[in-house]
Amino acid sequence: MAARRKPKLAVWKFSSCDGCQLSLLDCEDELLAVVGAVEIAFFLEATRVEIKGPYDVSLVEGSITTHHDVERIKKIRKQSKAIITIGACATSGGIQAIKNFRDVGGFIDAVYARPDYIDTLSTSTAIEDHIPVDFQLRGCPINKYQLLEVLNASINGRRPNIPSYSECVECKRAGNVCVMVAKGTPCLGPVVQAGCGGLCPNHDRGCYGCFGPKELPNTASLAARMAELGMSGTDIGLAFRSFNANAEAFRKEGDIHDRR
Ligand code: SF4
Ligand code: SF4
Repeated sequence: MAARRKPKLAVWKFSSCDGCQLSLLDCEDELLAVVGAVEIAFFLEATRVEIKGPYDVSLVEGSITTHHDVERIKKIRKQSKAIITIGACATSGGIQAIKNFRDVGGFIDAVYARPDYIDTLSTSTAIEDHIPVDFQLRGCPINKYQLLEVLNASINGRRPNIPSYSECVECKRAGNVCVMVAKGTPCLGPVVQAGCGGLCPNHDRGCYGCFGPKELPNTASLAARMAELGMSGTDIGLAFRSFNANAEAFRKEGDIHDRR
């Protein structure tokens, strides 16, 4: 009997810091199992080998920030059976999407010695804004165990078991005392999707929202509570303008408070 062909995996980078790709390499104990289950056909962060498509699964990190990105992601869609976007950059535009709310020319002039070399779109947007995507894995960076779960599900044709509930659920399960209730420390946990393991609340800090909006987040209610805790409108707006600034729910709440 012929051996079953391993699914071909490709990992692609767009505008990003590479942190989410590194989460795959960070799966030290599980990496051999991954390599045993898939053929790593394209993953420049890890290997120079470039096997041509089509690919069974493409993991896409990073956001769309150039005209070239727009063309490239369309080609990747055509070559890929399933596309899974990984990380805040790929799923919402990432931290670089703060340029969406200001004059991008001002940022370029402030940052680059030779602004005339820079050719960029005025926005940073999610991959899903340009092509159909099969699954979006949130986080900045992603949780490696969630990545393994999504890969496993994709290879085996089942739905990934990734929670869409809020960070508060994860935080309370960890037995934390709520920093917002006990200390009046603003925390985005009630509107943020779980997945980080409660990194900040576990260390007595409010959540910064790395995993983006949960399903049906009540951002207005949280913003009102933040105001009661003494935050200015500008600071409330900025709280929503971070890793997932361009995710719809956070973008809208940020717009309400953005008075600059
Ligand atoms: S989501 Fe965060 S960790 Fe991942 S590539 Fe973007 S900036 Fe880096
Ligand atoms: S500390 Fe933050 S994440 Fe934890 S329960 Fe309180 S509001 Fe929710």
